[in-house]
Amino acid sequence: MPNQPNAFDTHDHSHCTTDGLARAEGILALRKQRLTPVRRQTLQILLAEHRALGAYEVLDKLAEAGFGKQPPVAYRALEFLVEHGLAHKVRRLNAFAACMHPETDHAPVFLICRGCNALAETAAEPVRAALDAAAHAAGFTVERTSIEALGLCPKCKVAA
Ligand SMILES: [Zn+2]
Ligand SMILES: [Zn+2]
Ligand SMILES: [Zn+2]
Repeated sequence: MPNQPNAFDTHDHSHCTTDGLARAEGILALRKQRLTPVRRQTLQILLAEHRALGAYEVLDKLAEAGFGKQPPVAYRALEFLVEHGLAHKVRRLNAFAACMHPETDHAPVFLICRGCNALAETAAEPVRAALDAAAHAAGFTVERTSIEALGLCPKCKVAA
């Protein structure tokens, strides 16, 4: 993905949140959907860290931000973000992560650090193309994928 910082590299993180919120507003405006205050806060919470957060972590942070501790509200906001491609569900961690390139329709490929839970989303197209080719050879049609690779990020690899 051009111009997207690699979550594992040191980068000016302030842009990740502001750019992410601006992109989300643009995408939702085209779909005549609203980034309500609770949806916006939920996305901001996810964008603040390159890490997948569990629903309860999000709930706690929403409460800290003054949105009350209401699990259905948090779940609905997370579901909305996932539905509109602004966040992904990371099944392995049973958690949610902000999408770093929501303007493209894509099947995410996640690199998850088992040391610090840092998470990067990487270019999915080549992986998906290879998977489709292998599936096609087996007479299989892929409808949905969730590709999650577990390993060590550069920082944790140095520490190991
Ligand atoms: Zn960042
Ligand atoms: Zn994504
Ligand atoms: Zn790590």
